[in-house]
Amino acid sequence: MVKVLVLNAGSSSQKSCLYDLPHTRLPQEPPQPLWEAQIDWPHGGDGAKLKVKTAHHRHEETLQGGSRPEDSARMLETLYSGATRVIADPGAIETVGHRVVHGGEAYRESTRITPEVKAAIERLALFAPVHNPANLAGIEALEALLGSQVPQVAVFDTAFHSRLPAAAYVYPGPYEWLDQGIRRYGFHGISHRYCAERAAQILGRDLAQVRLVTCHLGNGCSLAAVRGGFSVDTTMGFTPLEGLMMGSRSGSIDPGILIHLMRQADYTVDKLDHTLNQASGLEGVSGISNDLRPIFKAIDQGHARAKLALDIYIHRLRAGIGAMAVSLGGLDALVFTAGIGENAAPVRAGACEALGFLGVALDPQKNNDRPRDADIAAADSAVRVLVIHTQEDWAIARECWQHLRR
Ligand code: AMP
Repeated sequence: MVKVLVLNAGSSSQKSCLYDLPHTRLPQEPPQPLWEAQIDWPHGGDGAKLKVKTAHHRHEETLQGGSRPEDSARMLETLYSGATRVIADPGAIETVGHRVVHGGEAYRESTRITPEVKAAIERLALFAPVHNPANLAGIEALEALLGSQVPQVAVFDTAFHSRLPAAAYVYPGPYEWLDQGIRRYGFHGISHRYCAERAAQILGRDLAQVRLVTCHLGNGCSLAAVRGGFSVDTTMGFTPLEGLMMGSRSGSIDPGILIHLMRQADYTVDKLDHTLNQASGLEGVSGISNDLRPIFKAIDQGHARAKLALDIYIHRLRAGIGAMAVSLGGLDALVFTAGIGENAAPVRAGACEALGFLGVALDPQKNNDRPRDADIAAADSAVRVLVIHTQEDWAIARECWQHLRR
């Protein structure tokens, strides 16, 4: 068996898991990891929380270390010591995969991490100032633990969108923007790709032959138009702020609003950043939460702004799906994934209700029946509608396994 460690480092959390995979053949269904861990760093500093889960133990502690590298080192220690121990020593780990948010134009596929790749990830921090440095810190933590001989692989969130046609990725600003790297990249690519492959598997079709719109609806939300096995259009752009309305991000708005706000005397770039990334979206409109569940509760109690937030969310989701379907020139299947896509039946129903003219018809019972990796379209629907549980960590582990085989 091959032990593959996956590290998914975000702005305020870090998730990790260890898979034990056969040498010869990857399982069709995602296996249960041997060990799973998560660190949550609270805003404001003190006491990060570490949670670790194995088949036999659950462990929680408040980390006293203080620095991120120290916290990561403690998390990794639980792999080979204490009650959550699943390997004898770090030497048992044969390869490590990292989710890297921004791979720029150069990285169209996952790649073995070398000093050059690290330098590129560092350079691209200009475009992903929170995520790429966190990804790099994760890579360095593993190098410190395992030495540089153990292969580490970067799996990029932008890679699946790297074949967007120029008409889809060039902004209609000054042409010089392209030289500065200001173009559309797209994100959530690991999830969109996994869901597209899984959709083809569920449909029993060749991925190269199906036209899909994959809807990744979590805290961040984006759509991808998938044709020929690649993303040919997507809603996120230069940053993960473009496109759909999200938990606390605005998505696309008239850029004239930004000019208007910035002209006000005390308005700063940091304030604008905070407004658009943290104080907008479901949170900003409802005034309740960036999480859809309390918004549903408030709607039941007659809260008008909560209802408006959901209405805007669905209005923009429908418009986005329509745009993606047009980029594809037709639609074979619509795929819903991530927290909202997998769990919020009313959002799926609301989106599909407007897509009847494309031949989309939901089976209401299947939609309400907690579907997972299932087709919820009515029998006579011209377009299949799938709910797929996204498995980014498993997708990263598969990439690592394939790199080892090469
Ligand atoms: P994610 O970023 O994929 O974890 O998704 C987070 C979003 O999924 C939040 O808006 C949650 O409210 C939403 N979500 C998770 N579970 C449910 C549920 N059972 N019903 C509605 N929304 C949910």
